[in-house]
Amino acid sequence: MILDGKSVAEGIKQGVKARVARLPIIPCLACIVVEGDGASEIYVSSKVRACEECGITSQVVKLPAKTTQSQLERTIAKLNRDNNVNAILLQLPLPKHLDATAAIEKIKPSKDVDCLTALNLGRLFAGQSRFAPCTANGIIKLLDANSLQIEGKQVVVIGRSLLVGRSVATLLEKRNATVTLCHSKTQDLAKVASQADILIVAIGKDRFITADYVKEGAIVVDVGINRLNGKIYGDVDYESVKDKCAFITPVPGGVGPLTVASLMENTVALAEKQEM
Ligand code: NAP
Repeated sequence: MILDGKSVAEGIKQGVKARVARLPIIPCLACIVVEGDGASEIYVSSKVRACEECGITSQVVKLPAKTTQSQLERTIAKLNRDNNVNAILLQLPLPKHLDATAAIEKIKPSKDVDCLTALNLGRLFAGQSRFAPCTANGIIKLLDANSLQIEGKQVVVIGRSLLVGRSVATLLEKRNATVTLCHSKTQDLAKVASQADILIVAIGKDRFITADYVKEGAIVVDVGINRLNGKIYGDVDYESVKDKCAFITPVPGGVGPLTVASLMENTVALAEKQEM
């Protein structure tokens, strides 16, 4: 069965719209995008469209590909000071000459909509916050919306970025799954992955995961977005895996729309907190 991210995302956005309508202000999300990565610019336009659907104002700050670290950090500082901006998103990845971790640390934690500053991640990992990075949140919402049990399940997450793998592993562990977090140095990955009741893949390698990595009847969540000759592919080889697993997310139309919907939810949550 296909896990349709689009319909779940629509429901989340409707909920956000209702919350926005109850606020005394119109929330504003600022997205910083450094030019040069075509895909990033496409993602930002879909985030702007989602803001329009939810009644959220958006502000896109485009910086040239040759932007320096200090220019980027000055831009973040300006948005931190702007009382009209409730949430700040730094679209990743950044060009190689820029230090994403250092830039993220400059975002004011109360406006850090993707929950990536050390303070917000620390709160998440310490169990002191329900606020989480958008993609990780979106994956949990997709499983919940399809009434797929998490508690007690063997989960394998492949990929350990803070943005996706490590955050989703934390959220799943909090929901009482037994989680194994794999990465590029994991030995015999197919053997480990094929133990999983729920397999989550976020590695950025076009159709890397084939049927050998999947247990019969597993739930497969493919986070990857890989662009090839104008087409988008996941990290999972959908054709090879689809008849072996019980549930699978398509790419596109799986996790992607949920990342955007969770971004809307995080934006309204920050605005609500700031208005309290
Ligand atoms: P990332 O920061 O590059 O991290 C990739 C992770 O995969 C690393 O932990 C790396 O291991 C691991 N890895 C790489 N090759 C591997 C291999 N052959 N076997 C096992 N592990 C391997 O990437 P990311 O930001 O997490 O993104 C991952 C993918 O998700 C990308 O395709 C990205 O575009 C996509 N993405 C999609 C969404 C969405 O909304 N759908 C959102 C965010 C990201 P090491 O740590 O050992 O290097």
